[in-house]
Amino acid sequence: MLATVQLREWAARRGLVLGIAPAGPFSRGEAALKWRVEQGLATPFAAGSLEERCRPGVLYPGARSLVVVAGPHPRPAAGAPGPGRGRVARYAMGPDYHRLLRGHLQGLAGILCQAGASLAAVQVDNGPLLEREAACLAGLGYYGASCNLIIPGLGTAFALGLVVTDLELEPGKPLAPATCRNCGRCLAACPTGALLAPGRLDPQRCLSYLTQKRGLIPPELRPAMGSYIWGCDVCQEVCPENYRAGEPPSLPETGLLPTGLSWPGVGDKAGSLTGGAFRLHSDRVAPHLTYPELATIITLDRAGFNQIFGSTALAWRGKTVLQRNAAIALGNQGDPAALVPLQQALHAPAAILRAHAAWALGRLGATGHPALAAALATEADAIVRREIKEALEGRCSRQPL
Ligand code: SF4
Ligand code: SF4
Repeated sequence: MLATVQLREWAARRGLVLGIAPAGPFSRGEAALKWRVEQGLATPFAAGSLEERCRPGVLYPGARSLVVVAGPHPRPAAGAPGPGRGRVARYAMGPDYHRLLRGHLQGLAGILCQAGASLAAVQVDNGPLLEREAACLAGLGYYGASCNLIIPGLGTAFALGLVVTDLELEPGKPLAPATCRNCGRCLAACPTGALLAPGRLDPQRCLSYLTQKRGLIPPELRPAMGSYIWGCDVCQEVCPENYRAGEPPSLPETGLLPTGLSWPGVGDKAGSLTGGAFRLHSDRVAPHLTYPELATIITLDRAGFNQIFGSTALAWRGKTVLQRNAAIALGNQGDPAALVPLQQALHAPAAILRAHAAWALGRLGATGHPALAAALATEADAIVRREIKEALEGRCSRQPL
């Protein structure tokens, strides 16, 4: 039998952590997904049926073990987003983690095959199996009230992937105690109220989903995006499980954390969260990818988009979704300097960008009105016309977030 310790050493040499879960049903995950469906909270992003997501044997009848690997998200550039800059969730800032982790896992699949496996299927967010659930069952981490998995040594900021194999490997044991410290900070800080209760997330209100979905963002949720143009790290940034007593925060580095806070005793359960020994990305992320310039984004053509964002994990959705989000962020910032790029976006080929540019111009108040009135005279799309009219009526004016 291939020893777990050998696999862990293989992972550690690459800056990764590794655990093994039995390929049995994910009972906790199945119950959580059923609750979401019953509440009408499922999103179209979920691939596969409930059984395919929670029962490895459905897609892989010979599966015996899941080898789960985690690697930390990249470190953002130092500093904080200035005016005209957007924010990107940490996982999507740097080189696409799917590609990096898949490369490692394909090497691992080769090792498993050499050890006699006839099944070694790699999944990095490109299959239905719940990777967090597998990591939890492998004893790599435990769930927080924010629904994020917390891995000792990594906190919540990591990428996950797994290999499904027919090898019988020695599984890890779920960690105990298997809960976070239940401080409630994540629920209080969530800008959209997506965290309904500890362990209960409404994904349709979560910015991680909203910033990736196509189409209109509900107007009442646009202000909650703030400067975020992709994903959201707020519930992670306020989480004491990501900090060590007496040390600077390992995760935020964005100036969002309230000053004067201390975290007594933090780290006593999760251990070192600085992740010094762990590494998936080689460098800090460049400033233009940590805090991208919003005016540049909304005026990009396809070639420019591919050049700047093509190698990151947010490229898969294409440029219009990112441009829509950038328009909202400019509206939330309310800086009159955004007038010219928003005016340009108001005449973009994509109606969805024109609609959100209209909303953003409405947030500029009287500054945006001449451009809106001129566009209304020529705009043919019914949704864009409605957004322009609402903007001219002041129905999207700036309100406290
Ligand atoms: S990612 Fe953001 S929007 Fe989603 S639950 Fe966390 S804080 Fe709320
Ligand atoms: S912020 Fe507090 S309640 Fe939320 S996951 Fe972290 S420790 Fe748990």
